[in-house]
Amino acid sequence: MTYPRVEIDLNKIEYNTKAIHNKCRDFNVEIAGVTKVFCGHPEIAKAMVDGGAYILADSRVENLKKLKDFDVDKLLLRLPMISEVSEVVKYADISLNSELETIKKLSKMAIENNVIHKIILMVDLGDLREGIFIEDEIFTVVGEIVKLKGVKLIGLGTNLTCYGGVIPRKENLKKLREIKNKIEESYNIELEILSGGNSSSIHLLETSQIPTGINQLRIGEAIVLGRETAFGNLIDDLHDDCFILTTEIIELKEKPSIPIGEIGMDAFGNEPSFIDKGIRKRGICAIGKQDVDISDIIPLDINITIFGGSSDHLIIDLTDSLSNYKVGDKVSFKLSYGGILSTMTSPYVHKVLINKKHSK
Ligand SMILES: *Cc1c(COP(=O)(O)O)cnc(C)c1O
Repeated sequence: MTYPRVEIDLNKIEYNTKAIHNKCRDFNVEIAGVTKVFCGHPEIAKAMVDGGAYILADSRVENLKKLKDFDVDKLLLRLPMISEVSEVVKYADISLNSELETIKKLSKMAIENNVIHKIILMVDLGDLREGIFIEDEIFTVVGEIVKLKGVKLIGLGTNLTCYGGVIPRKENLKKLREIKNKIEESYNIELEILSGGNSSSIHLLETSQIPTGINQLRIGEAIVLGRETAFGNLIDDLHDDCFILTTEIIELKEKPSIPIGEIGMDAFGNEPSFIDKGIRKRGICAIGKQDVDISDIIPLDINITIFGGSSDHLIIDLTDSLSNYKVGDKVSFKLSYGGILSTMTSPYVHKVLINKKHSK
């Protein structure tokens, strides 16, 4: 066994996907399973597909490349860089776009490769990350896209609660539908997709507020952490522990809680501060900020607290634990979204799949 490790429960990923898929189906919404938080790991992606995701979506082409053998459409979530369009048309069937210049390059590259690349045009409904903000511009750009060969405009999309924290509501998502209707009339085309956001749109399903016509959500966090992200509520019955980080104790000693001597700066140039709790049983785990931010991990043993850490060390307080830890013992943590992202990205953290389905 190798440590630190993050164990990924494929059963739970599939279960969470299925549960969200079922909620969506009542409203004729399909889910694109978002794989970026786990770097497009194909076996985890498969659990999403088994749970009902009809598209796999990622913000990075490198990750979509790992998913090339799946027979569902691959969607590139981050607006393509012009410098990567040849890879984009190769590994993504669909991409989210807001820049005509980029779409023209995609068109050229798609023609060269003899493929039709599908475009979802992003509309900024106020969150102020990606998307066309001005309505006139949307119509102008659509007018240009329909003239291009090699690309096909298949729908409109929006992204909320990512930069500006704007909460998806019936009102703002209805706007997307209105724009779609106008485009369909003006250009005599049909747009099959209205992509109504990410895990922050799930609360609209729970309260039956999702406007009809929205037929796709791009879901990552709600699947991996079992929570909607507009208000941060757990979704009933879903698992919040699909990913568990386990580390090994390399030192365990009783020491004071205040350092001895004149205090300068810590390893990261910050001035540290301490609370005097007297002599404590302090454990050092072999993981550090190079792998994960300390604020992104939550000890499974609720009587353990975290003192802090440096690049390669995590210092925890074991004094109040009911278990009698020894050097070499393992300590496990739940992870926040950022914690999953960084441990899955760190080459020093081993990825272990558990509850794999036996191949049929
Ligand atoms: C990351 C991302 C998503 C998924 O967001 P979650 O909150 O993880 O569901 C959806 N759409 C876009 C454009 C994204 O970048």
